[in-house]
Amino acid sequence: MIEDRQHDSANRNWLFVPYDQLSAGIGPLATEDPRTLGIVVIENPWKAALRPYHKQKLALVIGNLRHFALEQAERGVAVRHIVAQGPYRSALSGLAHSLGPVRVMRPAERELRADLQPLFDSGELCEIAHEGWLSTREQFLASHPNGARYLLERFYRFMRKASGVLMENGRPAGGDFNFDKENRSAFKAGRDPIPQPPPSFPSDPVKEEAGRLIERVYAHHPGKLNLDSLPVTAADAEHHWQWALANCLPWFGKYEDAMYSGSSTLFHTRISALLNLHRLLPARIVRDVAALDIAIASKEGFIRQILGWREFMHHVHEETDGFRKMPDANAEVAVSPGDGGYGRWSGAGWEGPADCSDGGSLVSTLGADAPLPPAYWGRKSGLNCLDQVIAGVWEEGWSHHITRLMILSNLACLLDVSPRELTDWFWVAYIDAYDWVVEPNVLGLGTFATGQLFTTKPYVSGANYIHRMSDYCEGCRFVPGKTCPFTPLYWAFLDRHRPLLEGNQRLRIMYRGARSDGAHQDVFERVRELLVAGEELTPSNVHPPT
Ligand code: SF4
Repeated sequence: MIEDRQHDSANRNWLFVPYDQLSAGIGPLATEDPRTLGIVVIENPWKAALRPYHKQKLALVIGNLRHFALEQAERGVAVRHIVAQGPYRSALSGLAHSLGPVRVMRPAERELRADLQPLFDSGELCEIAHEGWLSTREQFLASHPNGARYLLERFYRFMRKASGVLMENGRPAGGDFNFDKENRSAFKAGRDPIPQPPPSFPSDPVKEEAGRLIERVYAHHPGKLNLDSLPVTAADAEHHWQWALANCLPWFGKYEDAMYSGSSTLFHTRISALLNLHRLLPARIVRDVAALDIAIASKEGFIRQILGWREFMHHVHEETDGFRKMPDANAEVAVSPGDGGYGRWSGAGWEGPADCSDGGSLVSTLGADAPLPPAYWGRKSGLNCLDQVIAGVWEEGWSHHITRLMILSNLACLLDVSPRELTDWFWVAYIDAYDWVVEPNVLGLGTFATGQLFTTKPYVSGANYIHRMSDYCEGCRFVPGKTCPFTPLYWAFLDRHRPLLEGNQRLRIMYRGARSDGAHQDVFERVRELLVAGEELTPSNVHPPT
């Protein structure tokens, strides 16, 4: 179905705007006269059917795409709004004959790049630079001279100097490039600032229509739809950012690693979904934060996420072709998109459409291949930390980065869960997840599946860390240091992977305290078996009387 929102579409220069480039602040929409431009936007049920995406994510993408089209039509841009039922290339192929050459900024997602490749090859689509990024490939390569191992810190310092952000007279503001040590406080209710609830956004006919579409066509997708918390217009994105500047940034750094059952947000800005759609532009975000009069540790901690980690992941994704090209050999690739275990859990299966892309890199340095437990889909596990975070994910399509790393990825890693299946789960469950961002985060940081390509060690922990950085243990049937399975799982993990990890310098101290203990391995076997079977854990089934 094709709908033209302006009828004077002749003599326009056309641009395909993918679902995640929804900004008039970058590319031709920022520099060319709107009356000379036309955009093609594609709403694509075929894409939505590839994986069991969270309802809120589908609503976010559809709502923003529709509003963006209206906003551009309002400016005088001709808009061709297509509802496709197949790969993007099938919707775009042939358009060049009627519209003339169509440009597109280089898609961030490999999945879309692969889809469009035949049109790039035939010249029907012309790729131009994606102006949303803050760094170039040349800068990334220059930050790693002579083929040095990819390291965030190396890249980040290079970019601080190259951009001048948080730099004073050639030196880092505050005297250091890194204030991580000041950013590790736990949160204590009654002692610390009160976290504010995230903003809600006004209803409008476009959003309501998108909501009805989700409930009608995508009712079988998991997750809760909440239109009140859904930003869909440019004004909503601005409102969200102003809320974040006032309510989150001053305390972001100090509590960025804290976890708290009373607020899934704490002082995280929750802008990642809007940033990854380009409703908010990274350059503006960095500029605004650098100008704030707040503690340097907070500013630096936040800017490191955007100018550092986010850009770094994009480059690693590009350089490795989504971890297909690994240093020693090409990785195996799944034949079709995975469902993150949804089909097994629901019993209903997940039948993706035909003509789909492959399912991504199967890299797994630790050889982990266990199925993801149904607890990740909402079945109670009995582990309060896990159950609290998972309930929030299916409620909101989001949780902050420490819960992602130190609860969800940590447990999956300790259980030797397939990194691909966990990645696919994050991809469908999180409203900000796209291949370029979710694969480096989960295959790399979360599970060590990419080995030391760009992370130095697996980020695993026992109960001590969770107990110190959260209040989850207070409401749990397990007791950290006594009955909680996380600590024996941690020791069992180190022991199981000793041949590969013992020589790792950053694990030296841990291995000094590690010993082979059959009891830890027994806990690992039992916990994994029970969780994969969908059983709830109790102290007595984790530690049965001998
Ligand atoms: Fe999680 Fe263990 Fe704490 Fe329970 S006691 S919340 S399972 S770390």
